[in-house]
Amino acid sequence: MKTFCILSLIALVGTCSKPKYEVKLQNLKDNIVLCDSALVIKYANTITTKELKTHLYKFSSNEFMGRKVGTPGQKLATNFLKSYYINEQIKSPFEGENYYQTIPASFFSNNYKSSENVLAFIEGTEKPEEIIIISAHLDHLGVSNDGQINNGADDDGSGTVAIMEMAQAFTMAKKDGYGPKRSILFLHLTAEEIGKRGSEFYTKHPVFPLENTITNLNIDMIGRVDDIHINNKDYIYLIGSDRLSKELHYISEKINNTFFNINIDYRFNKIGERNSYYSRSDHYNFALQNIPVIFYFNGEHEDYHKASDTPDKIDYSLLKKRTKLIFATAWQIANQKNRLVIDANNELLK
Ligand SMILES: [Zn+2]
Repeated sequence: MKTFCILSLIALVGTCSKPKYEVKLQNLKDNIVLCDSALVIKYANTITTKELKTHLYKFSSNEFMGRKVGTPGQKLATNFLKSYYINEQIKSPFEGENYYQTIPASFFSNNYKSSENVLAFIEGTEKPEEIIIISAHLDHLGVSNDGQINNGADDDGSGTVAIMEMAQAFTMAKKDGYGPKRSILFLHLTAEEIGKRGSEFYTKHPVFPLENTITNLNIDMIGRVDDIHINNKDYIYLIGSDRLSKELHYISEKINNTFFNINIDYRFNKIGERNSYYSRSDHYNFALQNIPVIFYFNGEHEDYHKASDTPDKIDYSLLKKRTKLIFATAWQIANQKNRLVIDANNELLK
């Protein structure tokens, strides 16, 4: 009888507490109010396949010799990004025409030469001290021993050109008087391929305080289709969105359900998933600092980390749609009334 009572009590507590948390989550979901729907679409539509393609054919051309960290090819790639931002009149967070956060050779092992993260910045109109980081890595594998150039069109040329187009779209909005209320840092990271060292350096030497860095949307390969989705190409893997901030997850879901209806695949977000993608690209260094992240990823494919990862194999309309999803998500986080909250501080979840 005693055992029965305890069990009943556990059952009772169990049934009472579970729906309660679900109700809180529902409240959190219902609390998300999308801002400026017409404007989001207007400026998202400035992201075009033509421009993505032009930038990507250049960025993943032989000229940049596979963009290996510290090499002349990588320097040409960083210079290409810098020139783009100067031409587009998108500022750097530093003085004048300096767009580089230089990482000294001493930070690297294995005799790598010094390298650069490239930073472009749009200052927020109302809460400039709150920073949203959109990132992708600019480096790749360089030239293989047999002389083949690893052009890394998908990895991570796709993420790089997505950022270029988003920066341009936010800038057009700003020129029309619709600049983001919070600041956006467009962060092209070096040295990802040798162990996420560019993002590690940034988080150790942040240009803006990490406590005011409210999210990191990181893109690493969004231009291709993996074997799992060969018959269902309108997809993207999202990893990490619900780990630190359920609000971030529900914003991301709501943006997608309202504007895009991409099939969001969360299979790689499961805790203990054997590929451990959550810890395998630059966002992880931000997550370690308790900054909520989303990692956007198309999965691996037959050309992953091979010389055959070339720009002719990119699906540009998919790349455009995925870029628009990230743009609209960033727009919401930059412009919504409340600052994005991590779960531990979220009153709605207490
Ligand atoms: Zn990559």
